[in-house]
Amino acid sequence: MAKHIKFSTQVNQNFTKAARYTRHSSGLLKQIKICNSVYEMTFPLKKDDGSIEAIKAWRAEHSHHKLPVKGGIRYAANVNQDEVIALSALMTYKCAIVDVPFGGAKGGIKIAKWKYSDAELERITRRYTYELIKKNCIGPGIDVPAPDYGTGPREMAWMADTYGAMGEAKLEALGCVTGKPVGQGGVRGRTEATGRGTFFGIREACEFEEDMKKLGLTKGLDGKTVVVQGLGNVGYYAAKFLHEAGAVIVGLAEYEGAIYNPKGLDIEAVVKHRKDTSSILNFPGAQNLDDTSLALELECDILVPAALENQITMDNVGRIKAKIIGEAANGPVTADASEVLLSGGKMILPDMYLNAGGVTVSYFEWLKNLSHIRFGRLSKRFEENVNTKLLRSIEDMTGKKMPEEVFREVVLGASEEDLVNSGLEETMINAYHEIRDIKMRINDDVSLRTAAFVNAIDKVAVTYLQMGIFP
Ligand code: GLU
Repeated sequence: MAKHIKFSTQVNQNFTKAARYTRHSSGLLKQIKICNSVYEMTFPLKKDDGSIEAIKAWRAEHSHHKLPVKGGIRYAANVNQDEVIALSALMTYKCAIVDVPFGGAKGGIKIAKWKYSDAELERITRRYTYELIKKNCIGPGIDVPAPDYGTGPREMAWMADTYGAMGEAKLEALGCVTGKPVGQGGVRGRTEATGRGTFFGIREACEFEEDMKKLGLTKGLDGKTVVVQGLGNVGYYAAKFLHEAGAVIVGLAEYEGAIYNPKGLDIEAVVKHRKDTSSILNFPGAQNLDDTSLALELECDILVPAALENQITMDNVGRIKAKIIGEAANGPVTADASEVLLSGGKMILPDMYLNAGGVTVSYFEWLKNLSHIRFGRLSKRFEENVNTKLLRSIEDMTGKKMPEEVFREVVLGASEEDLVNSGLEETMINAYHEIRDIKMRINDDVSLRTAAFVNAIDKVAVTYLQMGIFP
């Protein structure tokens, strides 16, 4: 949809709008906005049939105000330099918003993944990593890639292995990439992190009664109707956690079509149905929408675009019925369409905040790799022992015994997953409050996106101003 829309123009338009509410010089603002460097490369792939194919790829490092720079690698047939630059800029702002001490980066390899065998994908990934090593574009203190559209733990494991095999940064080598499988230096909770963060962000926004009232909604998630576009890693987990918290998932969209049931859809059953039949369509009890883009226009309280950029544009914005748009994808609503939604009294939870859960947990993974220890390993048993002593002495004092299952639940020390999830929850809640406070301080009419940009610009500016500029 709407291919003509230049993604970097959209991001910069939003930046410029927000920059007006800051007091930084035009020179500094330009430095913050611009992409510092882009590496465009072409490398050969030896295909399984022996033929050679030239593969095009990029790595954009948007801002080096903090190191390493950080951001995912996307595998897609239509990925291009402009897209990678725009996404790298969003990474800089995203990291600033959630106080993750990295600059922004993004990579892309121009391939239609389904056209390649697993062995070919492995060779592409390893060669790409090698090209990054040659140009000093990867390393635990330099640039740390992660999964993005079309990539996952498998690709990250190949990258980490290639980096380690080349003998780079020996002791910290595993910290060269995040989103790895747990057995290869990954952290528990990373796979779910972006979807879980999306859920925490939406839940927090719904906690403000006065904000919900303006939208004609009540406080809380319970009973709110939700449509999710994209059942990939982000969309699936966002839908799952929203459902578990009491929201009703009425619509789900994928490439092949969308399904709608105002009474609610069982996510796990839909995923199983899609696996069994290779299509989301014809799910029992649901209505089919053959044109998947129509899912965006369904009647609902919350719409979660969790696929790609430029989904809500001037072409369809007038038909969006949701009151809250939760941008789980990067750039799903164009800048012009955002204006229309906001003037129609809707709320947009901006991508650079709402999908920051992925990079937040990537930060935890990177810390784990550098410290060489699983979170909770030193403290879990100690906490359990202290809690047990405490409860036993309460029991002795009161003469009452707690039921065994409750006792066991209460004394439990925090595991790695508990700590990661609570760190993520804390991060998402704090970041929302910061953004909302800025919005209220400037003017309530200012969007959450503009407030989020103001927050990010100020934080990046402070780093530049404090570090001084190299003479
Ligand atoms: N690709 C994800 C994003 O866009 C994660 C990036 C990361 O973990 O570094 O935020």
